[in-house]
This record gives sequence, C-alpha cells and structure tokens, in this order.
Amino acid sequence: MKRNKRDSKEFSRRDFIKGTAAGAGTVALGGLGLEQAQAQGRPANWDKEADVVVVGAGATGLPAAIQAVEAGASVIVIDANSDVGGHAILSGGNVALGGGTSRQQKFGIKDSPDLLFADLTDWSVVEPNGFPDYRYNDKEVIRAFADNSATTFEWLVAHGVIFVDKVPDTLGGHATGNSAPRENHAAPMAWTQVQTGVPVSAERRETTSSGVGLIRPLEASARKLGVQILLEHKMTSLLRENPTSGRVLGIAATNQGKTVNIRARKGVILGTGGHSSNVNLRRIFDPRLTEEYQVAGEPYSFQDGSGELAAMAIGASLWGAYNQVGEFGQPVTKAGWIGCQYGYVNLSWQPDSPFFHLARATGLSVKDYQDAILVNQAGSRFYDETQGQFTANNYNELKSYIPGSYLNAANVKYSPANFINAALAGTGEATNGGGPIWAIFDADAVKRENWTVAPPHVDIAGGYFFMAGSVEELARKIVNKYQKKQMLPEALRSTVDRYNSFVDAGKDADFGKAAPKYKIQTPPFYAAWATPVVHDSRSGLRINSKCQVVDLNGNVIPGLYCGGESAGGFSLHGLARCTVQGRIAAKNAAAETAKA
Ligand SMILES: Cc1cc2nc3c(=O)[nH]c(=O)nc-3n(C[C@H](O)[C@H](O)[C@H](O)COP(=O)(O)OP(=O)(O)OC[C@H]3O[C@@H](n4cnc5c(N)ncnc54)[C@H](O)[C@@H]3O)c2cc1C
Repeated sequence: MKRNKRDSKEFSRRDFIKGTAAGAGTVALGGLGLEQAQAQGRPANWDKEADVVVVGAGATGLPAAIQAVEAGASVIVIDANSDVGGHAILSGGNVALGGGTSRQQKFGIKDSPDLLFADLTDWSVVEPNGFPDYRYNDKEVIRAFADNSATTFEWLVAHGVIFVDKVPDTLGGHATGNSAPRENHAAPMAWTQVQTGVPVSAERRETTSSGVGLIRPLEASARKLGVQILLEHKMTSLLRENPTSGRVLGIAATNQGKTVNIRARKGVILGTGGHSSNVNLRRIFDPRLTEEYQVAGEPYSFQDGSGELAAMAIGASLWGAYNQVGEFGQPVTKAGWIGCQYGYVNLSWQPDSPFFHLARATGLSVKDYQDAILVNQAGSRFYDETQGQFTANNYNELKSYIPGSYLNAANVKYSPANFINAALAGTGEATNGGGPIWAIFDADAVKRENWTVAPPHVDIAGGYFFMAGSVEELARKIVNKYQKKQMLPEALRSTVDRYNSFVDAGKDADFGKAAPKYKIQTPPFYAAWATPVVHDSRSGLRINSKCQVVDLNGNVIPGLYCGGESAGGFSLHGLARCTVQGRIAAKNAAAETAKA
C-alpha cells in the first residue's frame, strides 16, 4: 500500500533511532542498534518454524492453510481450542458465495463479480429499522471478495466440501445482496456434530446444512497436504522486529503453560474469529453490551479478541467500526432457547455432546410467545414478546430494486420491530446494559408447549431457571450473578396481574401484543433466562485487498495478514467472507520472499 502524503510526514521509531546521536552511538548487534535489538520481538530461540503460520483453525484459518500449501509454502496452524473449527464447526454451514458459481450457472441464476460488488456496496439499501446493510463496507475489501467468491465455491468443492444439490437460496443469509440468490449449504454427511455428539439422521445428511460439512472436509484436506495443526496452542502475542515497525517475524503461543515461539518465514495469518466474547472490546463499539449477554458459539469457542488485541499492540488499526453496531442481521439476537445460559437460536446443545458439561442444559424452545411474557430484571414487561429481531437484506427482499438509488427508500416501510433495543434499554437507570431478561410462565403454558421443566432441559443449578408456588415467591427466588438487583415480588405480581387483565380485555394496552391469549395463573410459576445473545463481529482489523493488516498510519504491517471475523470493513455475516479472505491472505503470504 502506498503511503499517503500525511503518512509520509510521520516517522517511525526506526527513523527516530537512526537519526539521533543515541541511535547512532549504540552498540551494533547484527546491524541494529542495541535499543532496537532490545525492542525487537525476536525471541532467544524459535521452537518451531514454517513459511506461513496461521492462527485459528476455523472458517478463515483452514482455507488459508490449504491455500498456502498449494502455493508452495510450509504451514503451521495453531488453535487455542482442543479441536478445530471455531464458530464455523457449530455453524449452519450456509455459505453465501456468488458472483457466478457453477451452482448458480447450473440453475440459470445470473450473477457476476461486478453484480456482487455492486450489491455489497449499495449505500441505498436500508432495513425497515433504519440501518443500511452495505453503506459502511470498504470497497477495496469488497472488490477482493467479489472477485474471489465464485472461485472459492469451486475450490471448496475441490477440497471435499459437498454442497446440497439444490438451487442457491437465501436461507441463513444476512446482507448477501439483493440481486441474486447466493446461499449454498454444506451437507453434514456422516460427520459427528459438536453440539449434539452424533451425526444428523441418515436421511438428512445430504439435504440439510451444517458447519461440520464445511470444516471436517477442510481439516482432512489440510492434514493430507501436510499442514501441521497444533491444538491447545493459544497465540499470546505477535513478534515484530520493533514494537511498532518492521516485519512480523512470528508469534508467541502458550501450550500447557509453556511458551512456544513459532517463526513465520513469510507471514502470519490471523483467523482468530473476532471479539464478540470480549466484553471490554465489544463495548468499544456498543457500550450497552455488558457481561450478561452471552455469545453464539460459546461455550465451545470464545471470540476473545486476542487476534485484534495482539495486532493492535504492534500498531494495527481497526476498521469499518460502524458495521459492528449496525443493527442488521444478527449482531444481537433474541434468545432462541430459554432456561439455559447459552441460548442462541441456531445452536442447540444436546447431552451427547462432549461439551455439554459446559453448556449444562439444552434449553426450552418457545413455539408461541403467547405462552410467556418477558420481563426485565425489575420484573417489568418492556415489549411485545412476539416480535422478532433485526432483518438484513438478501436476494429480492427489496422489490422494485433500483441499484444505488435513493428511490429504494420508498419501498422500505419503517418498522419499529426492535425487540432487542427495548431489552437492552433495561430499566432506564444510569447503568449500561439491560440486565437479564426472564421469561415468566405458568404450569398451563408448560403443558401447551409440551416442555419438560427439569434437567437437562433447564439449568436450575446454574441459576438460569426457577420455579415457585406463587408469583411473589418466584421473584424472590431469582438469584443469578447477572441479576444485579433483587426483583421485587410486588413488581412481578403487578406485571402478571396487568398482563392477565389484557387477556380479559383482548388487548395489550402497553405494548400492542396481538390479542394476548393466556393468563399466567396456574402454579407452579416459572422464570427462565431469556437474555439476548450477541453474535458476529462485523468489524475488526484494517486490511487491504490482499488481506494485509494496515496500521494506524495507513501503512501495511509487513508479514501480517488477517481475514474473517477478526477483519474489518465488511458487514456480511459469516462463512463466505472468511473462506474467501483466508484464501486471499494465504496466496499473498505464500508469495512473499522467505526471510532468513
Ligand atoms: C451457531 C452458529 C451458527 C452460524 N451459522 C452460520 C451460517 O449458517 N452461515 C454463515 O455464513 N455463518 C454462520 N455463523 C458464523 C460463522 O460461523 C462465523 O462467522 C465464522 O466461523 C467465523 O470464522 P473465523 O475464521 O473468523 O472464526 P472461527 O471460525 O470462529 O475460528 C476462529 C478460531 O480461532 C481460534 N482462536 C482464537 N483466538 C486464538 C488465539 N489467540 N490463538 C489460537 N487460536 C485462536 C478459535 O479457537 C477458533 O477455532 C454461525 C455462527 C454460529 C456461532
């Protein structure tokens, strides 16, 4: 990347040392001043080395590793977890690759890199809640994605991913573009699912979609090609020649309490999966996202932001920060499973999973929100429980679509269907975050929903599910580490009484829930954790079209690459941008001249 005028006026630590008497007078060590040598990230010894070191074995890292080997590089992949896959292995396996894939062509769908680029940079597409899906995307980043999207589809197929043989659609899509259907679905085949501990039923293996169908074939392909995968190795820092200048030389990681220094002769690729689980980091973008909000993908994989933080520590810039707070798609979602800590709608933990002891309960799925009310930690209702969550633009959602025209706004009907914001608003006190949200219901609702209100369905021991003989007693029983104030018994009693009066009246005078149907009146009464869940990281490190990481002065950090949820400038949800950017990063890293 060229330095712009402003950048060229700035000077680096290296320039400073060169230009001062102190710098000139220091003892030369291998051609470098002493001060510089001390400041270097070069460790006393390297424990391992490869041309390309990939951090994270998820949707970005595995494609990066394979692509780098194909480009002639030796590759080490490390992952902090005890297995590969990150969020991707838990995912729905819906992969939004378009731009003219063979699958699109087979079904007569017209698409091209230019159309994909135009779609994903169209400022004029706005959601009914007022948020623009594509306005804050970085055109350089999107152009690179658009140009490599179709080839990545073919490449994944060549590496063993079996996509369900059907016309691309919009299922699982968030901000995939208005002009063509682009979602492809990775078939889970006979792979065991992490969240259930078993494969999907034989009749669904080739017809449904799941992240194992993407990750396990890629893992197999990587291993076959000789990629070294080191599990339970967590990167703790990036090692750079100087604190904020020079090449990235490698990484420091920990494994079983020991430091492992891994040298990257050509480059380091960060595929660490974003920062949604890091409360302090996510609150830079949205102060409301306090600690009570769990994250989709937990407790298997935590997006702790360690990639972004390590890169920022050596000078990297964040990018496209607006996208992180844009309320489109599923940045924050309504809990799909209640009565358990980890309630992301598309992730159902089952007792056979080897990770179930971390999740502790399957949760209850609410078929009809006429069966429960939702209250905040003060015991007050705050919205129409039947409302959904954020939408995001996909194929044909904006009808009479005129690319790039303000006239599109005429086709969008503003809708306040914004359950999440009401939940996050909490009680209006001077504290950020809304606090826990509890679903309140009675024994009749349990019958109607056909719920089993006992472990392993609900997490009683963890404090995510309570029952009592009266509404008042229920309020008193709610004790949970995120419930900062005791719910007042009379407050919950009053909320339930008022709601029951709405059922008699056939009208919700407070929040407009359509014809409230059922009173909450038959003991026992229940309170189930139903707090919103945080999802994607849609902003991250600044990258350019080669997926090189860029610093705060606008300069490339030599030897450092990033893709996927840890990279910024792109609001597309999920797997497609990760797989594409992993490949782009790897091609460019592998093409670097190896450093001795
Ligand atoms: C339940 C669920 C369903 C989803 N469904 C879909 C879907 O259908 N379609 C879609 O497009 N997207 C979906 N997504 C989103 C998609 O899975 C993610 O966007 C994608 O996996 C992100 O890829 P990534 O490479 O950035 O991170 P990940 O796939 O999460 O991989 C990151 C890896 O890096 C490792 N790591 C992190 N920090 C370090 C460190 N310091 N040192 C070493 N290793 C580290 C992690 O352990 C992890 O294995 C879903 C997500 C979830 C949770």
